[in-house]
Amino acid sequence: MSGLPYAVLRDQSNLFYNRQMLRRICIFCGSSSGKRLVYEQAVQHVGRLLALRGIELVYGGGNVGLMGTLANACLESGGRVIGVIPQSLVDKEVAHAGLTELRVVRSMHERKFLMAELSDAFMALPGGFGTWEELFEMLTWSQLRIHRKACAILNVNGYYDELLKMADKAVDEGFLRGANRDLLLADADAERLMDRVSNQFSAIEPGDGTLI
Ligand code: AMP
Repeated sequence: MSGLPYAVLRDQSNLFYNRQMLRRICIFCGSSSGKRLVYEQAVQHVGRLLALRGIELVYGGGNVGLMGTLANACLESGGRVIGVIPQSLVDKEVAHAGLTELRVVRSMHERKFLMAELSDAFMALPGGFGTWEELFEMLTWSQLRIHRKACAILNVNGYYDELLKMADKAVDEGFLRGANRDLLLADADAERLMDRVSNQFSAIEPGDGTLI
């Protein structure tokens, strides 16, 4: 799609955004790299895409697994990266020393809240329990209208097929409303998914009563 609101004007190193432009996205992904190269390649592609579109990355601040790969790809392409990590994980997830900004917080809860507050949208790439938990918390906050920011899954190599089927099953079985199921965007194509996320952000009205 063309004419999207991610376009930015560059003036030396400064980026200018208007209110409707997606400025920051929070990405959740594995602290492991997965067994197939395709996951690392997809994550590197996303990192480069963010830099190209002038969208800042907010993530868990680690330098391990797909998290580290994502941050490095974005930084190497000239992008800006903000890491948010609890003190207790600084060693375990090897806090990234070369980020644009590293925010060390007191707890996992503080980490998630700050990531949510800083970001205009949320996206999960392949990962495990931690990744799912973070995405689902943002999704349930969206369901409760605590925010209206997009929640998206990049379905690399069909990794999330079963999870998406489970969401459909929840609708069929009466545990999830169809309208809430639709809050979860999913796509196998990173550019298209980023377009959809950007479009949703542009449509958010200011002062719509949400908390973050
Ligand atoms: P994983 O997908 O399990 O490799 O974890 C990816 C990221 O999720 C890491 O930065 C973890 O610190 C984080 N994480 C793990 N467990 C949780 C949790 N219960 N709540 C929030 N984040 C978590």
